[in-house]
Amino acid sequence: MYWEKEIETMDRSKLEAAQLIALQDTLIKVGKSYYYGKTFQEKGIGVSSVKSLSDITKFPFTTKDDLREHWPYGFTAVPKDELVRMHSSSGTTGRATVVFHTAKDIAVWTNLLARCLYMAGMRKGDVFQNMMTYGLFTGGLGFHYGAEKIGALVIPAGAGNSKRQIQLMRDFATTAVHVIPSYALHLSTVFDELNLDPRKDTSVKIAFLGAEPHTEKMRKKIEEIYGYKAFNSYGLSEMNGPGVAFECPYQDGMHIWEDSFLVEIINSKTLQPVPDGEEGELVMTSLQKEGMPLIRYRTKDLTRIIPEPCACGRTHRRIERIKGRSDDMLILKGVNIFPMQIEKKLMDIPGVGTNFLIILTREGYNDDMTVKVEVGKQYFSGDLKQLEKLKKKIIEELKGEILITPKVDLVEPDSIPKGEGKAVRVVDNRKE
Ligand code: ADP
Ligand code: ZN
Repeated sequence: MYWEKEIETMDRSKLEAAQLIALQDTLIKVGKSYYYGKTFQEKGIGVSSVKSLSDITKFPFTTKDDLREHWPYGFTAVPKDELVRMHSSSGTTGRATVVFHTAKDIAVWTNLLARCLYMAGMRKGDVFQNMMTYGLFTGGLGFHYGAEKIGALVIPAGAGNSKRQIQLMRDFATTAVHVIPSYALHLSTVFDELNLDPRKDTSVKIAFLGAEPHTEKMRKKIEEIYGYKAFNSYGLSEMNGPGVAFECPYQDGMHIWEDSFLVEIINSKTLQPVPDGEEGELVMTSLQKEGMPLIRYRTKDLTRIIPEPCACGRTHRRIERIKGRSDDMLILKGVNIFPMQIEKKLMDIPGVGTNFLIILTREGYNDDMTVKVEVGKQYFSGDLKQLEKLKKKIIEELKGEILITPKVDLVEPDSIPKGEGKAVRVVDNRKE
């Protein structure tokens, strides 16, 4: 049941004592990087400033912009010849940032992934198809190494090429997959096209859904279509990539591996830490990294700590499903809206298909939102009354959630372009 019982179920006081030692060690290491060396000196802070874990608040935050401004090597904390791997972020919110790993970093990361996959039920003997982009993106190689460490047979399928994915799945009796949730839904339309039923015509039992925010409803929809159990996997390149937080079999929040990461949740406005249980922005300090450790990295991801202990016996705290990034928030007619609110409502309405897109427009001083929604093919043949009825229902449901009446445009399956990577949920045409 546990990959490393002693660490996963460690007494909290012991875990926190280990965190403190690892934090002090990290502060010594990180002071050798150009960026932190300079920052620590300017502010007169360093390892001696830390006597307890809460002293972390004496250190300034690190942001994606800091990483961008010190491109390419400003954050590396070891001589360049000790680095063995480079990865990068996906560039969802601007220019991608790079991260570097030593051989030990790769070993630690691999082990974290093995811990996650084992926790979700993957074992030696499983056939694991990794449908993520290989290369700079961390979802490919990160999972690949972790699955191999468990002893699974790994098919490095990479992203896209849907028909080949399905064929691989069927020919080699794949039992576990790693997939971006929006792609899992897209792939289901290709199963339809081929007249195949993923529940009957494949042997997949476990899926790992990661790399982009998705609602509980979306997970349920994917589980229903495929008949497998789908586990939420959270990570970011700045903290290795996947393997940061992961669901256990209870599937109620994701255990965040506190032996490797020191976690804070802050209020994005005041930047002050909030108590456990309260929602805010996740801030993380790496505790094991050597190549490019980061102190108080602002992920911009919104979540909360679930304070109650988990029934699985793991003592590492859980974070709730990510609600979105703070920079995902739209402001329309003065109302704050997260794309996930729209997704949550849409996924609950029968007839709604597998993809949607929010389009924002401006005419004069008037801002508008159009939600383009793919719906079942059957709505477009013959009597269009059903289509009108469905449209009304969607408008009503969305209005109830976001308190604004959006325009809704219902379109045929697969008519909203879907790439292999993270879904684009919003097109903002209001900007000149
Ligand atoms: P980028 O930040 O450019 O997208 P990354 O590939 O490093 O590059 O992606 C990390 C980000 O992806 C996280 O900060 C988070 O916003 C999102 N993410 C990853 N996994 C999940 C998940 N399971 N749920 C929600 N968001 C996720
Ligand atoms: Zn648990």
